[in-house]
Amino acid sequence: MTSLPVLPLSTGAPPRRPARPPRHLADLDLAGRQALVAELGEPAFRAKQLSTHYFGRLVRDPAQMTDLPAAARERLAASLMPTLLTAVREMACDDGATRKALWRLHDGALVESVLMGYQDRVTVCISSQAGCGMACPFCATGQAGLTRNLSTAEIVDQAVYLAGVAASGVVTGAPPRLSHVVFMGMGEPLANYARVIEAIRRLCAPSPEGLGLSQRHITVSTVGLVPAMRRLAEEELSVTLALSLHAPDDELRDELVPVNQRWKVSEVLDAAWDYAARTGRRVSIEYAMIRDVNDQPWRADLLGRLLAGRLAHVNLIPLNPTPGSRWDASPKPVEREFVRRLRAAGVSTTVRDTRGREIDGACGQLAASETGSADGR
Ligand code: SF4
Repeated sequence: MTSLPVLPLSTGAPPRRPARPPRHLADLDLAGRQALVAELGEPAFRAKQLSTHYFGRLVRDPAQMTDLPAAARERLAASLMPTLLTAVREMACDDGATRKALWRLHDGALVESVLMGYQDRVTVCISSQAGCGMACPFCATGQAGLTRNLSTAEIVDQAVYLAGVAASGVVTGAPPRLSHVVFMGMGEPLANYARVIEAIRRLCAPSPEGLGLSQRHITVSTVGLVPAMRRLAEEELSVTLALSLHAPDDELRDELVPVNQRWKVSEVLDAAWDYAARTGRRVSIEYAMIRDVNDQPWRADLLGRLLAGRLAHVNLIPLNPTPGSRWDASPKPVEREFVRRLRAAGVSTTVRDTRGREIDGACGQLAASETGSADGR
C-alpha cells in the first residue's frame, strides 16, 4: 500500500498539562496503605479493613463501610478513597452479556472499559491511558492523540467496578466472578509501563492486598515498544503478551502502526519470541482485518511463514468501522481464506468475536462519540 498517509507518532491536540490524579489505596501495596493509615493517626488494621471492603467486597463507596467509626471513615476516605471514576454513560448489549462504561476522570479526561460475560468466564477490557499517542490511522482513539497516562488506581478501579457489576449477577449467562483482564482499552499499556505493572500486581495480589486474579488470566497488549517488551519479559510475571501486528511487512506496517518506523517487524517479533521463551507463554498476535489493505492472500502466507513453528496464536479482529471512516472490515470470504492459509501454515488462528458492536464497542469509539472526535477524520 502506498496510498495511505504516513502519520507521525503523536497527532491531534497537544497533551493537556498533566494533572496528577488523587492518591487512592489501589496506588499502594498493603504496607504502603498501613504506613499512610498510621500517618493519619489511625491503627494499622484499618488499612486491611479498607482493603477488604475495596478488593474483597468490591465496595468503592466509603459511606457503605459502616463498620468503620464515622470520623475515622471520613478521614480515611479523604486520603485513601477519593472518587476516581465518574460514570458518564453505561450501556449493555448482546442480551446483557456485554456492558460498557464511559468514565470521566478528575480532570475531565474520558476513558472507557468493557465487560464481556461468557459461559465460563468474565473478562474486562480496561484502559491504561486517556487517549493514545500511537496514531494508528484506523483507530478512533489514535486520531485524538494522547491526553495522559492513567494512575495505577485509575486502571485498577475500572476492574474493581466491573468486578462488582459481575458480582451483582446482572451479566447474563456468565459466572458472577471476574476472572480475566485484558489491557486492550484506550492507550498503549507499555507506554505507561510502571503504572501498568503496578496495576497488574494489584489485580493479582491475593485479597485484601489485591483482587486475587491469576497472572495467567491477564493479557497486556502492545503495538511493539521493543525495549518495554524486553523489560516486561524480565518482570517474572506470567501474563499473556498480545502483539498488535496488523501487517507482516514493514512497508504496510509503517503506515498502519506508525511505531513500526522505529521498531521493524523483525525486531518486534524477536522481542515477542524472547518473551515467549522466557515466560513459556504463547504470544497472541493481533491482526485487524481491513478490507483491501492487509487482507490479501499473499500477506496471509507471509504471516504464516513468520509465525510457523513459534509459540504464537493469531487472533484476527474484524475491523469495527467508525462513522465516516474510510477503513472497513474485510468481507467474510476473504477473512475465511486468510484463516485457511494461516492454518495451512500450521499457525493456530481464531477470529475474535465482535462483542459490543451495538454500543461502539471497539477501542476508543465510545469516548470518541462522546467528544465528537470519531467523525473528525
Ligand atoms: S490501535 Fe491501540 S495503539 Fe493504535 S492508536 Fe489505537 S489505542 Fe493506540
